[in-house]
Amino acid sequence: MDFPPRLSLARRPTPFYLLERLSAALGGPRIWIKRDDLTEAAAGGNKIRKLEFVLARARAAGCDALVTSGGIQSNHCRTTALLGARLGFEVHLVLRDEGDFDPVPRGNLLLDYLAGAQVHLLPRREYLAHHAERVAELAADLRRRGRTPWVIPVGASDGHGLWGYVDCARELAQDFAAAGIRPEVLVHATGSGGTQAGLVAGAALFELPCRVVGVAVCDSAAWFERKIRADLAEWAAEYGVGLEVGALPVEVDERFIGPGYARAGPEVYATIRRLGALEGVVLDPVYTGKAFHGLLAMCEAGEFDGCRDLVFLHTGGLFGLCAEAARLGFRRPPRGEEGDG
Ligand SMILES: *Cc1c(COP(=O)(O)O)cnc(C)c1O
Repeated sequence: MDFPPRLSLARRPTPFYLLERLSAALGGPRIWIKRDDLTEAAAGGNKIRKLEFVLARARAAGCDALVTSGGIQSNHCRTTALLGARLGFEVHLVLRDEGDFDPVPRGNLLLDYLAGAQVHLLPRREYLAHHAERVAELAADLRRRGRTPWVIPVGASDGHGLWGYVDCARELAQDFAAAGIRPEVLVHATGSGGTQAGLVAGAALFELPCRVVGVAVCDSAAWFERKIRADLAEWAAEYGVGLEVGALPVEVDERFIGPGYARAGPEVYATIRRLGALEGVVLDPVYTGKAFHGLLAMCEAGEFDGCRDLVFLHTGGLFGLCAEAARLGFRRPPRGEEGDG
């Protein structure tokens, strides 16, 4: 398999191991974890794998500025801001402002500023109606100023970013062989579809034994299936990989979205606390907490009965958790009751 040019930005391969205490506590299939939250420090998570390919194209095209968009706590925008600084691009982010005003930026937004990105906040309504025009205007402004901008789609999810997770599937084939397992199912969070599109293609190319199940964190399964199939079609047309992509299985589970994008119910926070205390693995409320809650709920409902090994792909999101710290429900003790630390 010939991969297109990429920049080497992520720490690869990421760790893969068994969640021993959780598996013992559940008493069902063994649960393994692929730690793509460890692809980097501040720039960690799944987006860096896609951006290695996307930014290689931006560089090859002679661009010196990046424009992208997402939610106010977008992991993709934070990763683009940090990598842009690392590589010397001027970075512009169009972010959807949810209106819950906080004078001090937190989480991913804090890192966007720290990386020197230019942040353009759009009220939610305006973002939903006009964010594509706003991105195009910004790119036009940059051109007038003599810059050469490269526009990156939401989540870097398209037929190019997809390569990042084709490559992760290649890594997983090696991980499974090293562990001597043939897992039946791989579960991960799906938010803009690029991770799943890459895994679906990679699973076919590298003959992974498992189903790939994306747990939707926002839109419906039908929406994601269309989006993932469009990315796969674009990828196949562009790179001529000789896979019949229309025939590949795309499985999206829409039962665990909860109240909506970036809004999680108490069961998700309970899952985050549980995995933190049991395994020292930190999930986030927007993506991985929902997907892991879905995995546990499916286990409890007996949907994986008869399976020996399941894999959870941890896609990152730590800074989104920091932005929602209050919802975890921890309180420091009042003064005078701290204990004798
Ligand atoms: C973006 C993101 C996802 C979803 O990946 P997509 O490729 O956009 O579907 C999952 N987890 C985290 C932490 C993310 O930032």
